[in-house]
Amino acid sequence: MDLLPIIHADADAFYAACHMAEDDTLRSRPIAVAGDPNTRHGVILAANYPARAYGIRTAMRLGEARYRCPDLITIAPQRELYKAYSIRMREIFHLWTPCVEPLSIDEAWLDLSHQLNQWKNDSVTAGRALQDAIFQRLGLTVSLGISANKMLAKQVSDWDKPSGLTVLRVEEIPERLWPRPVEELFGCGPATAKRLAQWDIETIGDLAKSMPTVLQPLGIHGERLRARAQGLDDTSVIPPRATDRQSVSVERTLPYNLLPRALTDQSWEPLIAELMTRLEATGMESTTLVVKYRTRHFITHTRRITSSAAIHTASQVLILLHQILKRSPITEPVRLIGLGFVDLTLVKAEQMRFWDDL
Ligand SMILES: [Mg+2]
Repeated sequence: MDLLPIIHADADAFYAACHMAEDDTLRSRPIAVAGDPNTRHGVILAANYPARAYGIRTAMRLGEARYRCPDLITIAPQRELYKAYSIRMREIFHLWTPCVEPLSIDEAWLDLSHQLNQWKNDSVTAGRALQDAIFQRLGLTVSLGISANKMLAKQVSDWDKPSGLTVLRVEEIPERLWPRPVEELFGCGPATAKRLAQWDIETIGDLAKSMPTVLQPLGIHGERLRARAQGLDDTSVIPPRATDRQSVSVERTLPYNLLPRALTDQSWEPLIAELMTRLEATGMESTTLVVKYRTRHFITHTRRITSSAAIHTASQVLILLHQILKRSPITEPVRLIGLGFVDLTLVKAEQMRFWDDL
């Protein structure tokens, strides 16, 4: 029997759930966390499942939400509360394994490779016990994806929300993963999905079975996505260093040196996506983007650009990146590219980014 040591845990309707955990009477009633409940102009940041039954969704205008559900209870966001629950949830993860890598405020990967023998090598039993512990101690429900590697576990954790537990074995990939739309693939941004559609790649299976030559315009990003679609992922669960974070950054060594003109938006897209995810996990924000690259002669260059407002979206990063590279273009082949934010400050509640399923 092959072992499935990786768990991706994702809290259900997290912001709303924190308020329900604080006040049990809210559990069965439709509630929404909204930008500014005192004006009609706020937007929904998160809704619990009873509210979703009325068709209330993240990013919906508050006025429309109230129209759909006049009894909707709206609550102003309380970032400190979410942060506190996030920390307590991570403490429980650490009772299962020291190897925990947070992906956002309410998501993390756990690597149980060295603990599975305590669970008779059955990660489903370990996962159920984890869900029970989190519900009993915090009053939150989490959904789990369990698989052989990080990408596959993340891919399936939202298949059965709320309180879901989805196991994906490697041999089930063709039957269960491949029929799904390619934009569900972790790391496949909308720009990439659009290009793939032009080449008739609509499902994850189409991508997995595509010829490498078809994906050539996407460069290394295309190869990585194709490997993911095939279920291949050799990245490790890496616990963050226990330091007070003033910056976040991501970088990637390229498997071969790339000419400047071969560095397209698609080359940067996965780095930007990863950077934004890491930024979200800190609960902080920044106005300064740092771009880094290392030439084939191992000389490292960094460029920074400061925006007039905090940078919250991938498209803002891309615009700033274009500005930097226009101002001081890369002139020789590169072997490594990286992006980062520096001088992080705490996000104000009303500016919080929202996710599709918090
Ligand atoms: Mg979630």
